[in-house]
Amino acid sequence: MADKQNRNGEFWELALERAHLGVWDWDLRSGDCFYSAMWSQMLGYGEGELVKTSDLWLQLTHPDDRERAVASGERHIAGQTAFIETELRLKHKSGHWVWVLDRGGVVERDTEGKPIRLMGVQTDITKQKQAEHELEQVNARFRLALAASGTGIWHHDLATRKSYWDERTREIFGFVADTDEVPHDLWHSYLHPDDKADAERAHMAPLQTQKVVAVQYRIVKRDGEVRHVESLLRFIADAQSSGQILGTVRDITEAKQREQELAHAAHYDALTGLLNRAAFDRLLAEHIATARPLAVFYVDLDYFKALNDFAGHAAGDLALKSVAEGILSCLPPSAHAARLGGDEFALLVPDCDARQAEKLAGAVLAAVRTAEPGSAVARKLAASIGIAHVADRNTTVADALACADDACYAAKAAGRNRFAVFSPETTSGSGGLNAARLAADTVDAMEDGRLKLFGQEIHRLGKPWEDSRHVEVLARLVGHNGRLIPPGEFIPAAERFGIASRLDRWIIRTALSLHGPALKSGVLTLGFNLSAQTLSDPQLWDFVDAVIDETGAPHSGIGFEITETAAVTNFTAAEQFVRKARERRCRVSLDDFGAGMSSFEYLRRFPVDAIKIDGSFIEHIAQSRFDREIVSAISGIARSLGCSVVAEKIEEQDALDVLRDMGVAFGQGFLLHRPEPLEAIVARASAQAALPVGRQA
Ligand code: C2E
Ligand code: CA
Ligand code: CA
Repeated sequence: MADKQNRNGEFWELALERAHLGVWDWDLRSGDCFYSAMWSQMLGYGEGELVKTSDLWLQLTHPDDRERAVASGERHIAGQTAFIETELRLKHKSGHWVWVLDRGGVVERDTEGKPIRLMGVQTDITKQKQAEHELEQVNARFRLALAASGTGIWHHDLATRKSYWDERTREIFGFVADTDEVPHDLWHSYLHPDDKADAERAHMAPLQTQKVVAVQYRIVKRDGEVRHVESLLRFIADAQSSGQILGTVRDITEAKQREQELAHAAHYDALTGLLNRAAFDRLLAEHIATARPLAVFYVDLDYFKALNDFAGHAAGDLALKSVAEGILSCLPPSAHAARLGGDEFALLVPDCDARQAEKLAGAVLAAVRTAEPGSAVARKLAASIGIAHVADRNTTVADALACADDACYAAKAAGRNRFAVFSPETTSGSGGLNAARLAADTVDAMEDGRLKLFGQEIHRLGKPWEDSRHVEVLARLVGHNGRLIPPGEFIPAAERFGIASRLDRWIIRTALSLHGPALKSGVLTLGFNLSAQTLSDPQLWDFVDAVIDETGAPHSGIGFEITETAAVTNFTAAEQFVRKARERRCRVSLDDFGAGMSSFEYLRRFPVDAIKIDGSFIEHIAQSRFDREIVSAISGIARSLGCSVVAEKIEEQDALDVLRDMGVAFGQGFLLHRPEPLEAIVARASAQAALPVGRQA
């Protein structure tokens, strides 16, 4: 007790200094103010450095804080406040401002009770002020980020069971109110019935975990609109109460939709809604891995390009959609359909035996035939289907599809609008596994005499062949088993393996060697088919000129048929080819016109002698208005360009009559002449030419 009373001035000074507290002592009567050494030190001044003027404190106070600081003192002196407490800035010796907390009050009064002496202490709170400032900045940034992200904030007080939604939260839910406080059960009334239980459970989870919990759920707004939202929640413990759940809420409907669209686009074809190629490949791999027998169908639309080009892309798109619907309608539930691109489709049929596959193929063909062609003028659609059965789990997806593609090729070669089943035993087409074998066999055939020259007469319509005497040379391959393999099968294989040029040269040389004299004497003219590879062969004309030299066949006795597709894809080569042919007076025909890209524009670029209209436009011409319109458009343009028109694949008298009525000059087809060995045609023609004039037919 005695000790305590003995504490002297030095003791207090020391304590204040250690606590970094500056002391001031103001005598109201004299106006003098005493400042402790620590007070000065806080502002960077040493002992005695500050001149003791009566308004020193006011001079050092920041101009913006003066009024407030003075008022706080005056209020206390006037007895309105129990003490002075104010925050203000004082100028440091080096020029910057020091934030201080000033606390004090009256310590002495005169006999009337009027204050005559005030004392106070001052603490440096610069650091605290800085922290406050930084926090404010963080808050401002946070609010900005919230606003930018459209995130709402809400909290629920567990003790009072009151919920508070900020304006953005209310906006998201579409709840109109002026205050943040909302009925405690409001949120529950918005929950989508299917998400209600999960969302409610998630909102209780923070109580257990103490971690941030994220939850996505749907809400149903009062007008019935369904929105997706995401909330982040956390439990905030509070010493005074049971705490609160603090949460954010964000409308993620658009993001959800985009996500769903992307997920859909990653698996499905946008036009038809069928699976896309990547998804089909994955699915096929999975099914093959189960080692259960399955069938893969490769479905290719016939002459779809022509429809697209003549009736327009919109019609083409409609047709593809209609085909997709038709295909889907015949599939068993376990099967899958994909659009591989363009006009190609694929089917995967699990647990499918040969009989079921054929039945299904028939149904698909029928569905395609009844599909909407997409335009009133367009003719009926058709497809070629290849089927491959897969039972070996080591088969790759690529192999399975190649086999189906191979079979599809066979279906096309056999005349389209039909299906073919892949079998490894029979050579079937250019695709997949047999093409290489077939190409190799073609090379052998050139040497061992199994490659044969056939020919088909081209007629001036309504006149006997002898009037014009054109013949198209057609190749035939005799298989090892004696079967005659049509060029539709082995030529694509030859092209694929780069031997088409060799094959064409072989045919030209053989034909001219054998029949050079007949050509020279003008008994007939021959037309040769050239593949795209031959067309771009730079040595072609050296070769032809040499063969002509050797055989004595005249240039004017030979012609070349180049397909429109080959011409378009090798444009420069084709142009040069046509120019050189014209220099030599060799005839050039544009073959299969209408089946390929079919731009009339190309016709103007190639000064050909004849256009051969693709047989697919001729075979049904008597029944199809669309075909008639195309043929008439093509022949109109051909006439205006001064080239003749040849109609291919004339099989019926009706077709012939229609074509003659339309003014088509030339024709070719089984009705007029079936291809036969070239020798036979030449022999017949030579014999007739030898007859005396007047006896000729
Ligand atoms: P292409 O040039 O369009 O030849 C006409 C094809 O139609 C021939 O088939 C012919 O037999 C067939 N044809 C003719 N009239 C009719 C008919 O009324 N009805 C039906 N259904 N078909 C008819 P081929 O001989 O099978 O030839 C197919 C294709 O192979 C030819 O089509 C041609 O592009 C190509 N080709 C044939 N020989 C050669 C060749 O020596 N070299 C090249 N590069 N290609 C050839
Ligand atoms: Ca031809
Ligand atoms: Ca043709």
